[in-house]
Amino acid sequence: MPVKPVTVPPLPVTAKMPLNGESNTVVELTEQAVALRSVHAERDGICAGCLDMWARLAPHPCPQADWAERVLQQATPTT
Ligand SMILES: [Zn+2]
Repeated sequence: MPVKPVTVPPLPVTAKMPLNGESNTVVELTEQAVALRSVHAERDGICAGCLDMWARLAPHPCPQADWAERVLQQATPTT
């Protein structure tokens, strides 16, 4: 009996994080970082994105914002 392929609904772009072994171009990574950074913004010292998405009181920068910041630092040439 053939196995039916499992279809996984696509994640919203704000939920995307690169997984180990998953290939990402620099452009894709940068787009994800920009999206993440805009969502995970500071609000009264805590992360608004973490609070809205997961009801999590995370001090800003949260791990997601920190990751996005470091990706953008690497991707953006400093002159
Ligand atoms: Zn956050």
